[in-house]
Amino acid sequence: MVSTVESCQPTQKSLPPKTGSKRALGHLWSWCKSPWIQYPLSTLLLFKSDELIHLYEKRFLLPTNILSKSDRGKIDAAKLLFNRVGHEMNFANTDKLEVSVSSKFFLNAWTASHRWSKNPRVYLSDTILSHFSTEQLKGVFAHEVSHIKNNHMLITGFAVIGISGLIDFTAKKVTNKYFPKKEDKKRVIKKNLVMLGVELVGLTACAVIACAIMRQCEYNADWTAAQDPEKCTSLRNALSEFKRLTNAPTPRFWGAFEDHPSTDARIANLNKLCPAS
Ligand SMILES: [Zn+2]
Repeated sequence: MVSTVESCQPTQKSLPPKTGSKRALGHLWSWCKSPWIQYPLSTLLLFKSDELIHLYEKRFLLPTNILSKSDRGKIDAAKLLFNRVGHEMNFANTDKLEVSVSSKFFLNAWTASHRWSKNPRVYLSDTILSHFSTEQLKGVFAHEVSHIKNNHMLITGFAVIGISGLIDFTAKKVTNKYFPKKEDKKRVIKKNLVMLGVELVGLTACAVIACAIMRQCEYNADWTAAQDPEKCTSLRNALSEFKRLTNAPTPRFWGAFEDHPSTDARIANLNKLCPAS
């Protein structure tokens, strides 16, 4: 008597056929996931991200009606100073540079703009505006103009898009190799878990690489600002003031996930670039 192994195995339950609406949603989802849609859309969003961020950040900007006359004067003076620094650093559209003051962060200055932004903008926390001297603000603005001129936000954004695309591609390759296309329900769950695992490892790697690029952009912005000896000293003084106000500890184990180098490392770097006082 011939008995086959197959005859002893339980019959595998195949997936139920998809209904009309589910199939349409599936088609729409795979269309959205197509690289022909994803990459042009990501690029467009990246170029417009500073405007989108501004729409979001508008909620946290200090409304002019609650500001005292002297605070309003400080904001206007900061904007003039930002424009002057931009002019000194040969930025083409200095009259379009904007300063927004936010109450959201305790102590921060940042930008999401690039050189082709309609209105390149720097966000300042109100604490910076009230604690930093004009000379220190000049250093801060020189650093931010460097970010804008050198398109650091675009460089980081494209790196993230590229790396995440690579992760997606690798995850699909791995799962398609080990799991054939027509699967039963149990193996579909297993396949999705493997894909999730590969994506999580890849995303962690992506975060570490993106943070390393961002830290390098910070050093690069400091370096560009430091080409003018006066701005170099101003930036170093601003960082020392930042350190005094925050008492920020140097990151250790989680340093790989930090998007900025430690303040100590940046001051040490500027000590090498600035003229001896
Ligand atoms: Zn920066």
